[in-house]
Amino acid sequence: MFRDRVRAFLGEHLPADWTGIGALLPAAQDQFREEWRALMHSNGLLALTWPTQYGGAGLGPLEQLIVAEECTAVGVPQGGLNDNFGIQMLGSTLLRWGTEEQCRHYLPRILAGDDVWCQGFSEPDAGSDLAGLRTRAVASDDHWTINGQKIWTSYGHLATHIFVLSRTDPSAGKHSGISLLLCELDQPGIEVRPLKTLTGEEEFNEVFFTDARCPLDAVVGPVNGGWAVAMDLLGYERGEAVATLGTRFRRDFDRLHDLAAERGQLADPVLAERLAYSLQRVEELRCLGRQAVDGWLGGRDIGAESSLHKLFWSEWLQMTTELAMDILGSAATTASGTGLQGVSFPAAEAGSANTPSVWADYFLRARAATIYAGSSEIQRNIIGERLLGLPKEPR
Ligand SMILES: Cc1cc2nc3c(=O)[nH]c(=O)nc-3n(C[C@H](O)[C@H](O)[C@H](O)COP(=O)(O)OP(=O)(O)OC[C@H]3O[C@@H](n4cnc5c(N)ncnc54)[C@H](O)[C@@H]3O)c2cc1C
Repeated sequence: MFRDRVRAFLGEHLPADWTGIGALLPAAQDQFREEWRALMHSNGLLALTWPTQYGGAGLGPLEQLIVAEECTAVGVPQGGLNDNFGIQMLGSTLLRWGTEEQCRHYLPRILAGDDVWCQGFSEPDAGSDLAGLRTRAVASDDHWTINGQKIWTSYGHLATHIFVLSRTDPSAGKHSGISLLLCELDQPGIEVRPLKTLTGEEEFNEVFFTDARCPLDAVVGPVNGGWAVAMDLLGYERGEAVATLGTRFRRDFDRLHDLAAERGQLADPVLAERLAYSLQRVEELRCLGRQAVDGWLGGRDIGAESSLHKLFWSEWLQMTTELAMDILGSAATTASGTGLQGVSFPAAEAGSANTPSVWADYFLRARAATIYAGSSEIQRNIIGERLLGLPKEPR
């Protein structure tokens, strides 16, 4: 059975006393993540659904889900920090929209770790209103010339390449005249400047394009038809995390419950009630995850339902980390300043110490969860308009 194979792999390669990557010191986490990714790649566990001719395993969503579940259960990452951009988002998009040459060139390089991708969508005046983007790309005989600025580019400082949503026909309507370009970062026309987050980490960046270049054939999908390509790409953003996030958050809840118990606070009726509510909501999240998995395995596009999930988990996370701050009281003022090092998704890594500074960092990180991947207001608009059939908001 495939699950047995994955368990055997994990058992063979993890130490007997392994409690999760969160138990390692920050530098050791980075090293582990890199080595673990290489190991998963050499064992065919990185891009399970990609066809074998591009380096994938040629398996189905069920196998992909099993790997995600088993990795989550033992607290190991399913890839590197930028793999959400390279494998989930760009890789899946290339398989749908890319040419044969693009798939043959880019996909094996993504898996081998030769090309490391980041996402260049948001701009200072184009976030929720992404189609308001102004980064401009102009075609000449053999290349595109790109000018403009992107912002909030996560892990851009770790990347070698960026996929850039650009305006390629300014005379066309707002959602037309946009193309998705594939661009190397290491060139004179591109500057990547780090931005510091609340936790003190330099996790995202501004990226400036001044006559930057990419080849003429580095467009994914039709020239000027990039809006549909971009919407597809965003649909791949969270991948199978929908299925595993409830499990990870339940582990966070259990840690918080232990913390409250250690501090003798379970007898406080107000805190106990808030803990109970958090537990109820995280169990609901797990049910939503199961529902998404059923849809996914049944080949159903969960579409706008993913907004329900995003809204649910991001608000649960903020509610529960706020509760942690109240449980910790003044001890919560001790954020480490090192962040939850390298956490690629908003759940404390398995094995993280149950200390005030870890929770304080977690609380700070959770602030961003209702902004990225579509803010809560935008998710509510989608739920209202597409799931409930309410009138569209004025545009
Ligand atoms: C941690 C983090 C990582 C990120 N990583 C990346 C990345 O790698 N690549 C990338 O391209 N982008 C990235 N982003 C950017 C992210 O996609 C945007 O922040 C997000 O789309 C919101 O856009 P904005 O920040 O411009 O806010 P705005 O769109 O300006 O929104 C401001 C406020 O107005 C509200 N609002 C806006 N429009 C409406 C509306 N129609 N109805 C009701 N309320 C509305 C919003 O909900 C929000 O509260 C990241 C952001 C964060 C926080």
